[in-house]
Amino acid sequence: MNIILLGPPGCGKGTQAKKISEKYGLAHVSTGDLLRKAAAEKTEIGLKAKEYMDKGKLVPDKLVIELMKEKLSDNALLDGFPRTINQALALKNFFDVNVVLNIDVDFRILVKRLTGRRSCACGAVYHIEYNPPEKENVCNKCGSKLYQRDDDREDVVIKRLETYKKETAPLTEYYSEKNKLKTVDGNGSIDETFRKICEILRKTLKAFS
Ligand code: AMP
Repeated sequence: MNIILLGPPGCGKGTQAKKISEKYGLAHVSTGDLLRKAAAEKTEIGLKAKEYMDKGKLVPDKLVIELMKEKLSDNALLDGFPRTINQALALKNFFDVNVVLNIDVDFRILVKRLTGRRSCACGAVYHIEYNPPEKENVCNKCGSKLYQRDDDREDVVIKRLETYKKETAPLTEYYSEKNKLKTVDGNGSIDETFRKICEILRKTLKAFS
């Protein structure tokens, strides 16, 4: 099964992606994670990408498509790709999508979730209010100091949400026309949203078997 997770920054794509891929045995491919790793390793692609990411802009299609072409195989869950119509058009040449899950969340909730998010180099993610670590600013899992992603600062968050509206939101129409789109209400808790997603996937799997 091949899944695309769609939704604005802060809708919980990354969190849900981890849970879904674990439950259904899918490879979780996150373009954001791949780009951040490349930036941390200071590769040519990574350094170029960071300039865009820190401003809340999308990394150019050509660069991201090349990166994804290399990483994709079947039984994958795509988190953060495609993000433009051009990326979707390129994707259909090397990946067959079964279902596109679109996580819908109110704008005000998105800003609060993103600006309060704190991350750890080990991959763990917290929120200062909704999911605080046991010791302030310290990861429960590995004891490292938490940090705020450069693009989770409020000015960049607003820009990212504007970029989403302009560049990525049109993808919902694109996939809806192809009868692939399933929209999930993501305003509730992580577990509530996950339950709704599993229900959709149960029906999708049934339709395939
Ligand atoms: P994310 O972790 O998914 O929120 O992605 C963080 C940032 O990485 C985005 O704001 C973009 O700058 C960049 N990025 C991630 N995925 C893509 C993509 N498919 N196309 C262009 N830029 C991307």
